[in-house]
Amino acid sequence: MPEGDTVWRAAQRLDRALSGQVLTRTDVRVPAYATWDLAGATVAETVSRGKHLLTRIDADQAWTLHTHLKMEGGWRILEPGQRWPRPAHTARVVLETAEAVAVGFSLGIVEFVARDAESDVVGHLGPDLLGPDWDAAEAVRRLRGHPSRPVKEALLDQTLLAGVGNMYACELCFISGVDPQTPVEQVPDLPRMVARAHQLLDQNRHRAVQSTTGDLARGRNLWVYARGGQPCRRCGTRIVQTTHGPEGQERVTYHCPRCQPAR
Ligand SMILES: [Zn+2]
Repeated sequence: MPEGDTVWRAAQRLDRALSGQVLTRTDVRVPAYATWDLAGATVAETVSRGKHLLTRIDADQAWTLHTHLKMEGGWRILEPGQRWPRPAHTARVVLETAEAVAVGFSLGIVEFVARDAESDVVGHLGPDLLGPDWDAAEAVRRLRGHPSRPVKEALLDQTLLAGVGNMYACELCFISGVDPQTPVEQVPDLPRMVARAHQLLDQNRHRAVQSTTGDLARGRNLWVYARGGQPCRRCGTRIVQTTHGPEGQERVTYHCPRCQPAR
């Protein structure tokens, strides 16, 4: 599952490659849009909202292509004629201009909405950690509306704040010295935790390697995520790997029982 900064970078790449360009060929491999042909339309821009991508296309009317990477998805920008990096049958959208081919592979959501109805697909999101209108106080207020919810699960709820994925949720709990199962109301300094979330995504959106430790070397860039059984970088205790979350949406959680004592 990608994090908000990964999606922000995808939006930047799409925006650079397509904005202001006329589409020469489109192929939307979703039954509802199988007959859609947006050749001749102009791409206005691509922006991210939380983990959602909005590609605004001016055709017969102002459309927005709404896509979401979900678990395995990714957008690739290729040169015309360049070999695709993933199997063709996993492509869901192809947007071609004279100079670039944007291919969306294994996307979890592909739909067109009228531009003035974008709020139907992203209006449910909480404050966007990387949005121009990021509102830390509102994010804290929304989190506090769920006092008994485990804090890690609450951080992942995109309606409370938008952009945190499983990696950042685990890392934020470690950095804050909080057991992931701690109820929101028992987190000692929730505003500080939210401020750190913003700081981490904001720093990492410009980096090829996401780091929470400050070390950009792969293998040293994270505190606990995906480090089950390995020694804590701070105290040497083995990192514990557990599975939490509602049925069907379980997530693997990593934490150091010594640095993040249960409350
Ligand atoms: Zn530790």
